[in-house]
Amino acid sequence: MSENISVLGLGLMGTALAKSLLAAGHQVTVWNRTPAKADPLVAEGAKQAATPAAAVAASELVIACLLDSRSVTATLEGAELRGRVIANLTTSRPVEAREIAALVTERGGDHLAGGIMAIPQMIATPGALILYSGSKAAYDRYEQALSAMARPQYTGADPAMAPLLDLAMLTGMYGQMAGFLEAAALVRSAGYPLRDFTSGLLVPWLNAMAAQQPAWAEKMESGDHGTDVSNLEINRSGVANLVRAFHEQGVRPDLLLPMQEILERRVARGLAHEGLSGLVEELVSD
Ligand code: NDP
Repeated sequence: MSENISVLGLGLMGTALAKSLLAAGHQVTVWNRTPAKADPLVAEGAKQAATPAAAVAASELVIACLLDSRSVTATLEGAELRGRVIANLTTSRPVEAREIAALVTERGGDHLAGGIMAIPQMIATPGALILYSGSKAAYDRYEQALSAMARPQYTGADPAMAPLLDLAMLTGMYGQMAGFLEAAALVRSAGYPLRDFTSGLLVPWLNAMAAQQPAWAEKMESGDHGTDVSNLEINRSGVANLVRAFHEQGVRPDLLLPMQEILERRVARGLAHEGLSGLVEELVSD
């Protein structure tokens, strides 16, 4: 079904989103602070709105993909939101997502927060995922239209949920990168070919380790951190050994040190018999 959809923000991501909606046959109205960025989309059939308020007036579904939450709030200022669904795909912190949801609903609109798990080149391809949270009614009404951009997944009524899961996915990614960077520095110090190490050894190893994580998640949910794989004392000694080896190789173990500190802290509490899943308890703020 063809829908009227407005897109606020034509940066790299907003442009890719608008293109995918046009390609799916929707009537797309676009607005961007720098108007010239709309030209290629207008050439493909989009209508250009002169102001954000005009773009919001043009369609019941409005997708915002701007720099940050502050630019979203500023852009929506003065627009009539009554009867509109604002799907905010701008990367936001959970607190910001709740604030924008409140602002939209106070002004008579409905709200979805989104977390885009893709780069612009992946939009409208099978690997792309966008997480949504907020109004279930709005999600159900527009699920099909949203699926033109990426596979949509609804994660709950709390508007903060999709942004939080987005941040959690990024956290996992940065952790994996940290491990890769440290491993690469160590391998480079020995002169072993880094590409062979990465594709032949590290990636299969990381995939095998990642496959263990659902079992860890179960332990975290149950609170039973017992292990028949390797306890914290073994891991504490193993990481201390790693850190020493790094120094001996002339490599800084900076990205490993926080892990060592957390392991030491947990073992010092008398929990050396636990498995690594127990470290999650050390990450709760006081
Ligand atoms: P860009 O830097 O390419 O675009 C930023 C957009 O925000 C532009 O349209 C810019 O307008 C607009 N903008 C900036 N400040 C303001 C303001 N004060 N008022 C109005 N408009 C403003 O970024 P992306 O398109 O890459 O990213 C957009 C969002 O998508 C971000 O939240 C990002 O985190 C998220 N995202 C991006 C991914 C990516 O790979 N690119 C991946 C996942 C999420 P102008 O053209 O006038 O400068």
